[in-house]
Order: sequence, then C-alpha cells, then structure tokens
Amino acid sequence: MGLITRYRERLPFAPGDPVVSLEEGSTPLVLAERVSERAGVEVWLKLEGANPTGSFKDRGMTCAVSDAVRNGMEAVICASTGNTAASLAAYAARAGLRGAVIVPEGKIATGKLAQALMHGAKVIALRGNFDEALKLVRELCEHHPIGLVNSVNPFRLEGQKTAAFEVLDELGELDALCIPVGNAGNVTAYNKGFVEMGVRPRLFGFQAEGAAPLVHGAPVANPETVASAIRIGNPARWEEAMEAFTSSRGAVRAVSDTQILDAYRFLAAHEGVFCEPASAASVAGLLTHGVDGAERVVCVLTGHGLKDPQTALSQAGAVVPCEPHIAAVEKAVLG
Ligand SMILES: *Cc1c(COP(=O)(O)O)cnc(C)c1O
Repeated sequence: MGLITRYRERLPFAPGDPVVSLEEGSTPLVLAERVSERAGVEVWLKLEGANPTGSFKDRGMTCAVSDAVRNGMEAVICASTGNTAASLAAYAARAGLRGAVIVPEGKIATGKLAQALMHGAKVIALRGNFDEALKLVRELCEHHPIGLVNSVNPFRLEGQKTAAFEVLDELGELDALCIPVGNAGNVTAYNKGFVEMGVRPRLFGFQAEGAAPLVHGAPVANPETVASAIRIGNPARWEEAMEAFTSSRGAVRAVSDTQILDAYRFLAAHEGVFCEPASAASVAGLLTHGVDGAERVVCVLTGHGLKDPQTALSQAGAVVPCEPHIAAVEKAVLG
C-alpha cells in the first residue's frame, strides 16, 4: 500500500481525500555487514532507490501532488537537481495534471532527464544553477495558479517523515542516522518523524566539500561536486536543519568527492547496493568522520545508481572484448 494509506492518521489527509500514489515507501532496510566491519558499528542501509521513480522524492511527491489535486490545481512545477523533476513528472502524469520542471542546464543526470521527459513534463533547462531556479519558480507561483512542489512545500516534508516511521517500525531503536544533505528537506523531515514518535537518534548530515554551506555557515555561490543531487549552495531548509542537528546532538560535516566515490564503489562492489553518488555521501561521512560513539546506525541511500549511468561507467572497470571462439572466451573468463 502507498504511504498515505499506511500512515494516514499521522498525515494531513482525511479519509475520502484524493490520493495520488504509486505505492511508494515501505522500502528495504538491509544490514550492511561490510560497511559495519569498516565502520566498527552496526550499520543498516535504507534503500530509498527502491521507490517507484528511484528516489525518496516519491514520499513527498505523493503528498504534495495529492494536496494539489485536493486544491483543484491543474499544473504543478518545481526546480530540481533531477530527482524531484523525475518524481513530479511521474505523479503529475498519474494525476492527469500538467507538470513542468526547471533544471540547471547540462547538470542533471541522464536517467533523471529521461524520466522527466518520458512522463511528459515540460523540462526547462535554465542557464543558471539550482538556487537561481528555485528563486525563479517561487516568483512564478506567486503570480500563477500553479502548485509549487519543491521542498518548501510542507506536504513534501509530511510525506518524507514516513521514512523515519518505517525505520522505527522495523528496527525498534537506533542511535544515529547518517544522511546526505542538499536542500536539507529530507533531514528536516526525518527529524520531524522521529520527534513525532518521541525518539531522538543523533542526526549526522553530510554535504559535499564543494557544496557545504551548512558546514561553513555561509551560502556557496558556485557549488561543485560529482554528487549532483546535493549540488546546492543555499539550502531552503537551512534553519530547521541546523536545529535538527543541534537538538539531536548530531552534526553536519563535509566529505570530499573522492570519499563519496570510494563509498559509492564500495557499496556496489561489497554490499550489492547500487546507489547514486549523492546517496553515498551518508556512508562516506560515516566512514570518514564516525558517529561519536553511536552503536546502531542507519545510513539513508537516497536514490538509485541507475539514475546516473555516466558517473557509474566513469568509475567502474572496463568491459572485456572477446572473439567468438572457445579459446578466446576461456581466456577472457578465466584470465
Ligand atoms: C534530493 C536528494 C538529496 C538531498 O535531499 P535534500 O532534502 O535536498 O537535502 C540527496 N540525494 C538524492 C539522491 C536526492 O535526490
């Protein structure tokens, strides 16, 4: 069942309200033995890439688009580094709404672009970065009856907090949660979910070194990192995220692209889990900085590795060419 149905009594939806769902949520939580060994703590991976469009954005989108339908909107729009665009496009298609997405030109991973286009959204490539896109889309929605479904939309956080419920339903308790941070909506949502359930695991957020405004305490004008989903210089949920780190006795820290890519390859090669580079920032952060004495840790893997085949191919081994003869095949396989 979808997450509005599963958690309706903890969400702002009444029985009978329209629900636009692709049966998102209820994603796997798997024990990561190799990562646990390396980190010296018990590590669980929350596989958000298993959502219908391949990222946790579907949790927020089912709520935001259902609310847009409830309010009689005919169109929805967002600024996006990619996954919000893919998710919006799918849920808008499902609801029969028009969808538009504004993405930074040339900066969006191939899989995400393919999804947004296939689902029939209008994809607008802005000659600017994500932060500029968000500013413009907010201005547009002030003047037109279009539903804004960026993480400034409170329904996004409502949907995303359900991941915290799932972790608690399954594990009972945990000491810490490691999570990549871009716009900081997701960490804000997990915090909300944990607070509502009366528990306070320590929240450790990780930003990429070249896009770490929360770590430096100042916006970054030209954010740069291989992890395109967290290439954000001025997070929309800045204050709430900082409050979440402080009040849970956690922290926000930076990891380098090298550390991110190391974790990315390690997860794929030794845990069988293919996530996108931004997602690997949670595990990179755990391996680099530790979790200040926590024993049972959940790392959120926010999106699927297939989203970004280009980065994967640039990081993986080469294929082995082979002539169609048994001797050549023997040599290729066994050599
Ligand atoms: C959106 C996204 C993030 C960042 O989440 P925020 O809520 O913006 O902090 C991280 N990883 C992936 C794969 C994403 O799509």
